[in-house]
Amino acid sequence: MPELTHFDGARAFAHLRHLAVEIGGRLGGSPQEKQAAAAIEAHFRSLGLSTRRQPFPVRTYGAVEAQLEILDPPLGRIPCEMFYLSQDTPPEGVTGDIHFAGSGGVESIGPEWRGKIVAVLGGLRGEAHDLAMRFAPLAIISISDQLATPPIRVEQLPEVRAKVGAVPEVLIAHSDGLHLVREGARRARIVARSQEGEATSQNVVAELPGAVYPDEIVVIGGHYDSSLAIQGASDNAGGTALVMELARVFAARGSARTLRFVAWGAEELGLRGSVHYIKALKAADKAAREAPGFVPGRDHTELEQHRLCVNIDVQGALLGQNRSLALGPRELAAAVTLLAKERGPAFEVKEDVYSSDGTPLSEAGIPSVSFVRSGATTSYLHTPGDLIDYLGPEPLAVQGAFIETFLERYVASARSFPFERQVPEEMQKKIREYFEKRLRIDYYEED
Ligand SMILES: [Zn+2]
Repeated sequence: MPELTHFDGARAFAHLRHLAVEIGGRLGGSPQEKQAAAAIEAHFRSLGLSTRRQPFPVRTYGAVEAQLEILDPPLGRIPCEMFYLSQDTPPEGVTGDIHFAGSGGVESIGPEWRGKIVAVLGGLRGEAHDLAMRFAPLAIISISDQLATPPIRVEQLPEVRAKVGAVPEVLIAHSDGLHLVREGARRARIVARSQEGEATSQNVVAELPGAVYPDEIVVIGGHYDSSLAIQGASDNAGGTALVMELARVFAARGSARTLRFVAWGAEELGLRGSVHYIKALKAADKAAREAPGFVPGRDHTELEQHRLCVNIDVQGALLGQNRSLALGPRELAAAVTLLAKERGPAFEVKEDVYSSDGTPLSEAGIPSVSFVRSGATTSYLHTPGDLIDYLGPEPLAVQGAFIETFLERYVASARSFPFERQVPEEMQKKIREYFEKRLRIDYYEED
């Protein structure tokens, strides 16, 4: 008997290196993201899988300028990043007095913010951001609440900006925030300029049709985009590399059920790829139900054929911890727990929302399970510190082999599908709260 093909950490690490180092920053909608899409698609094709690209529009940005200069006392320039898509300043910037507001909770916000450059520990997020906009501060300096982390590269969601407004916002490191407090910084100038525009991102989809149950579809996905101009090595060249290598394994072995390998675009810009994917399925589902001859219960739309989503996001840390988050029937988290106890490695398993591409699918009733490797690199996510230097082939091999076994046992060769297609009500509630309060986008009402 020929030997079974197994997950190979060195092959996965080569994919990771190509995406993170040779291609580099892969911001949603950028030429580098497209270059990565082409490389991933070429890999899938080389395995004999049929592929397609699923394009969708994104609001993105290009070259940017961010400056924070302390004028009084004259401390000079402080390194900063723009909170991208927040709000541009005029070319000469804005100048004003600084108000230190503490932790940026709703209780710290008031009329004294009006017209000031407000420095906030830990940034201004969620409801606090919306409330603060009512007091029209001149600008925001967001001080990292992580002691040793450089400023992060994140984006304002254009939908939130359209709804509640935004002001220019820059992010600085904690140590620089301390410096401003110690020196009694009173007056500053901020320049924040980004080149915003519309662009196209894309999902890359590869299909291995099921040999026995072709209409039972399991998605195995990871996002391949990154924040602006950083390697995004663990987040998520690592997860994409696992998806690519798992595709090789199962393309060689075959599967009873359909395995759909998806590299999601533009996750960092607000889960755009997975949201687009599920919206397309929902629209097709609605059209199919309205078509003559459709018999509910007998006929199953493509959306209904989706049985599970395996989401792989943040991988490769040499020093780290394996985590899994499940949204679905109890058996799903239990299966990961039992398999980890049986064969290792140690996994921390939770039933909870993970802020990544599995969640939009679970909102549509598809159980999802995420595989993550957190570590010191976690605090570097979305910063230039998310480097390949902290990663290695071995952790990819360990989780890759685990997911391979999970898929082989419960999907590719299971006699009947072990997980009911169901997301319990209390989890649905958490998912709705996630979209309403954390992302603050009602993706599902827009159209
Ligand atoms: Zn990620």
